[in-house]
Amino acid sequence: MFDTLSDRLTSVLKNLRGKGRLSEADIDATCREIRIALLEADVALPVVRGFIAHVKERAKGAEVSQALNPAQQVVKIVNEELVGVLGGETRRLNLAKTPPTVIMLAGLQGAGKTTLAGKLARWLRAQGHTPLLVACDLQRPNAVTQLEVVGERAGVPVFAPERGNGVGDPVDVARRGVEQARHAQHDVVVIDTAGRLGVDEEMMRQAADIRDAVRPDETLFVVDAMIGQDAVTTAEAFRDGVGFTGVVLTKLDGDARGGAALSVRQVTGQPILFASNGEKLEDFDVFHPDRMASRILG
Ligand code: GDP
Repeated sequence: MFDTLSDRLTSVLKNLRGKGRLSEADIDATCREIRIALLEADVALPVVRGFIAHVKERAKGAEVSQALNPAQQVVKIVNEELVGVLGGETRRLNLAKTPPTVIMLAGLQGAGKTTLAGKLARWLRAQGHTPLLVACDLQRPNAVTQLEVVGERAGVPVFAPERGNGVGDPVDVARRGVEQARHAQHDVVVIDTAGRLGVDEEMMRQAADIRDAVRPDETLFVVDAMIGQDAVTTAEAFRDGVGFTGVVLTKLDGDARGGAALSVRQVTGQPILFASNGEKLEDFDVFHPDRMASRILG
């Protein structure tokens, strides 16, 4: 019936003009609408609860400003809180003091890691870096070839295991890839790792072994925004099994309203660094908390 949360709140609060403070009942009515908007955006329920409790607390103490009507005032509070939870300012990539900076990608199969590796490499190049891609997904048939294809499109070389020697050892490939980067003076190494369709102990162990071998400056958890609430359990499993320093959300071009962003950020406490929103290499940007907040609010 209403197009946006802001419309909904305006309707709920239409009788409030002229009041000095929002009443408890006004705040409760407003928070019900916010709760629906967040659930519709596929934010996980415990995250919604915590968020609403916080907004309620803040709205209670707030004076109704002269410049804004009460609905606008509440939307402003909600928006500020959302931007805060989503990370405030855009967090920049951690670069090593002594190159090469090692970035490892981890996530489920199909999350978009290999595609992202190409996007990130292209972006790094545009920033003046000289990246090297390393193909450590030796599980999925064609993953190495796929990385070589995106590497070529991005104009970035790919370090891959020699063909024809069986499956190969991803830990060894990672180690040699970083050595190669040092040798050929690439200042950033992006390591693509294997994922499985579901969380799986062997996958976690392999990712943890690669991590221990190359000690990444950034481990980025790559997650498909379309999986909505499942993003929380997957993120928790990767946090506990491998650990990560940042998050990349993919497939934001789907109809996901971005609830996964809020959930993953809130549950793991790790920042979202990048957003991927399409299959092409250029469909990629650093993550903007303010834009995502507007998207979640509708
Ligand atoms: P991996 O198994 O994690 O390496 O995932 P892939 O990089 O192979 O991606 C799985 C599928 O998702 C491929 O068909 C990609 O083209 C597609 N994909 C990756 N990122 C995006 C994105 O941001 N938007 C859309 N629409 N598709 C994507």
